[in-house]
Amino acid sequence: MAYFRLMRIDILTIFPEMFAAILNESILKRAQDKGLVQMHTHNLRDYVIAETKRKNVDDYAYGGGAGMVLGIEPIARCIESLRSQRVYDEFIYLTPDGEVLNQGMSNHLSTKQNLLLLCGRYKGVDQRVRDHFITKEISIGDYVLSGGELAACVLTDSIVRLIPGVLSDESSALLDSFQGELLDAPVYTRPAEFRGWKVPDVLMSGHEAKIDEWRYQQSLEKTQNRRPDLLKDKND
Ligand code: SAM
Repeated sequence: MAYFRLMRIDILTIFPEMFAAILNESILKRAQDKGLVQMHTHNLRDYVIAETKRKNVDDYAYGGGAGMVLGIEPIARCIESLRSQRVYDEFIYLTPDGEVLNQGMSNHLSTKQNLLLLCGRYKGVDQRVRDHFITKEISIGDYVLSGGELAACVLTDSIVRLIPGVLSDESSALLDSFQGELLDAPVYTRPAEFRGWKVPDVLMSGHEAKIDEWRYQQSLEKTQNRRPDLLKDKND
């Protein structure tokens, strides 16, 4: 009998509604339906301390300057409440100055059981959150988004599709770009001819070895043209 592991991802945000469309469609939905992953969003506004004068999740930056900052109190309360219920493998803050996400990081995180993702907004989160609660900081690229929600969706998608049992054909993910040093080969489907544009004959030949060799050569050529840096180690 196959053994399936349940992963849990908790996402802290001030815009939980942004996740509904992404988390509840396609592969991410199927992963939840199959009981392989649980995803929970937590609205940081629910953790604002009612007794204090601060009624908002954000406040002005000490020292002045443009832009608000997400305060430590609601974030600390939310994280402390969650971590009193289970052990987390990583507390991840999505941030443009973090380590840039790659397939290796997604592979590694897909083996974990409990992940917490913190989405920033405005100028970011109070540095003390990063110093005292966060164990990993991840960027999805060298550009700045308005908030961490889209980055959290990107990270979640890239991790969840790698969990055993999520994709109907797991070998498909293993052949994707960045799993090895080569980009993926071109793909075609029916019809075999459209407006005179034909599918390469070899793919219709049924000859497995020749198809594998064609795909390998296509991958190699594409990688050499588009991402020679991926082959650099091989060529050194
Ligand atoms: N002041 C920050 C800086 O320059 O590094 C940018 C803040 S950004 C406007 C607001 C939030 O969006 C960040 O706290 C972070 O959570 C998220 N964010 C923006 N760009 C991101 C990226 N490339 N990767 C991951 N998260 C990002």
